[in-house]
Amino acid sequence: ALTGAFTPPPPTHKAAGGAGMARTFNFKQGTKLVIKQGDITTEDVDAIVNAANERMLGGGGVDGAIHRAAGPELVRACAQHPEVEPGVRCPTGEARITPGFRLPAKFVVHTVGPIYENDRESAPLLAAAYRSSIKVAQESGVGSISFPGISTGVFGYPWDKAAQVSLEAVDAALSEAGEANSVREVRFVLFGQKLYDIFVAEAEAFTAKE
Ligand code: ADP
Repeated sequence: ALTGAFTPPPPTHKAAGGAGMARTFNFKQGTKLVIKQGDITTEDVDAIVNAANERMLGGGGVDGAIHRAAGPELVRACAQHPEVEPGVRCPTGEARITPGFRLPAKFVVHTVGPIYENDRESAPLLAAAYRSSIKVAQESGVGSISFPGISTGVFGYPWDKAAQVSLEAVDAALSEAGEANSVREVRFVLFGQKLYDIFVAEAEAFTAKE
């Protein structure tokens, strides 16, 4: 017989967390800003940004994930970018573009963020990585672009500071381009919930400031 009190189902936390969460904002010059949690390799956008290293021949973290998903053509395309000094295809703060090969994204923008030292030295380099990425994307007519949290992994940038510098740098780059800007949507695709929450909080503060 069915006796006893009704037992409610265990609570689920779907609404409060998990992949698939996203928030939408706007930069002041009109470009849409999406902060989302997820895997950047599955992004269906014109370009995804790779947090690469100066050699540009693959590595760990998001770099490894992008190379695995794009297939072996990607490392060959990277190798075709000339070395500007021995072992350096893309100096810290600069960006290079390649096709996306087997990725849903048409292009990969490879940029190199700084290994975090201190704000005075590292913030300008992190900002430069974002600005260079937007610039090379605009030169290829990219309309939508997804960024990971550059330098927030093994490069050790403090997450709250990285979120602030990243959003300000993208905003500045979009404004500078004026009428020539092709980028209508910028996404930050963060792997973990904590970094996602930090970027959302910063976007709220940042867009409220404008
Ligand atoms: P960096 O050397 O610039 O710190 P990492 O690859 O170590 O680069 O980390 C950059 C960020 O990318 C980290 O926040 C890491 O959690 C995140 N990341 C790793 N894999 C993915 C992925 N598939 N999609 C999105 N972000 C990822």
